[in-house]
Amino acid sequence: MKFEKNTTRILVTGGSGFIGSNFIIQQLLKTTNQILNLDKLTYAASINSLENIKNNSRYKFVKGDICDNILIKDILENFKPTYIVNFAAESHVDNSIKMPDEFINTNILGVFNLLKNSRDYISTLKKEEKEQFKFLHISTDEVYGSLELEDPSFTEESPYRPSSPYSASKASSDHLVFSWFKTYNFPAIITNCSNNYGPFQFPEKLIPLVIISCLNEKKIPLYGDGMNIRDWIYVEDHCNAIDQILIKGKIGNRYNIGSDNQLKNIDIIKIICNIMDDRVKRKNNLRYLDLLEFVKDRPGHDFRYAIDNTKIKEHIGWNPSISFEEGILRTIDWYLDNQDWFINKNKQ
Ligand code: NAD
Repeated sequence: MKFEKNTTRILVTGGSGFIGSNFIIQQLLKTTNQILNLDKLTYAASINSLENIKNNSRYKFVKGDICDNILIKDILENFKPTYIVNFAAESHVDNSIKMPDEFINTNILGVFNLLKNSRDYISTLKKEEKEQFKFLHISTDEVYGSLELEDPSFTEESPYRPSSPYSASKASSDHLVFSWFKTYNFPAIITNCSNNYGPFQFPEKLIPLVIISCLNEKKIPLYGDGMNIRDWIYVEDHCNAIDQILIKGKIGNRYNIGSDNQLKNIDIIKIICNIMDDRVKRKNNLRYLDLLEFVKDRPGHDFRYAIDNTKIKEHIGWNPSISFEEGILRTIDWYLDNQDWFINKNKQ
C-alpha cells in the first residue's frame, strides 16, 4: 500500500468480524481513506466478508494478534495511522462463561498493548499529526449491567456493573482506555453501543441464529422465558455513528449509541419467524415458530439493556436512520441471498 498525501489512514483491529467488516466496507467508500485491517481470524471472523474489497489498493489485511507487542509497534511505525478503531475482541457471552481466558487476553491485555504502543507512537508525531490522532475503543452497553423494567435507560454517567466475564473484560478495557486519557492525556474516545444486527453476523448470536435455524428447519433455542429485553441497532447505523464520532467526537468522552428500539427476545423470534413464513414457506402448512424451544437460562443472564442516546444526538448530531422493521427485513434478505457466506464460513 502506497501512502498518498492527504489521506486518512485508519488502523482497524478486528475488521474481519461482524461490525468491523461493515465498518471497513463503509469507510472504503471515502476515496481519501486507507485502511489496514489487523485481525487474528478467530472462529468469529470471516475472510469472505471482505472478499469483494481484498484487491482494493486502499485496503490491506494483516493476520495478527493485538496482544503481539512487536507486530503492533511495527504496524504503527510503518502504517502511521491517523485513527485507530479497536473492534478486536472476544464477543460471545456464552463462550466467556465456559472459557474466560481468551476474553482476559484479548479484551484486557490486548487493549493494554494497543494503548501502550499507541502512546509511544504518538510521541513521534509532528504537532498537527498528533492533534488529528484519535484512538476509538468500541465497547458495549453490557458494561452497565442489567436494568429492571422500570429503570431509566443507561446514560454515559451510569455506573459500571458488568455481570459476565465478557462484560467485565470489556469494562476493564474501558477503564484502561479512560485512565490513559486521564493520566497521559492520551487522545481516546469510548463508545458503548447496544445489540447490533445486520449482514455478516456470526450465527452464534440471536438474530442470525434464528434465521439460519429456520432455513435449516432446526430447533430455535431460547433462553429462560424469553422475556429478556435488548435494545437493537442496525449495524449500518452503528458504523455511521463511529464515522461521525471519529470526525466530531471529543477526546476523553464516552458516547452511548442506541436506536431506541427495545424488544423482548421472544418477540424478536416471532417477528423473524413471521417474515420467514412469507419468504420461504414450510411444507404442510407448518410455521417456523413451531421450531421454538425454551432452554435452560444462561447463568447471570442480564434482564434488560436500554440506551439513552441523548448525548450523541445533541453533541454529534447523529441519529439512527433505519427502523427495526426495515433493518430486520434487510437482514433476513441478506442471509437468504448469501447462504454461501455462512456455509463457507463454517468450513473456514
Ligand atoms: P465479532 O466477534 O464478530 O468480531 C471480533 C473480531 O475480532 C473477529 O474478527 C476476531 O477474529 C477478531 N479478534 C479476536 N481476538 C483478536 C485478537 N487478539 N487480535 C486481533 N483480532 C482479534 O465481534 P463484533 O460483534 O463485530 O464486535 C466488535 C466489537 O464491538 C467488540 O469489541 C464488541 O465488544 C463490540 N460490540 C459488539 C456489539 C454487538 O452487538 N455485536 C454491541 C456493542 C459492542
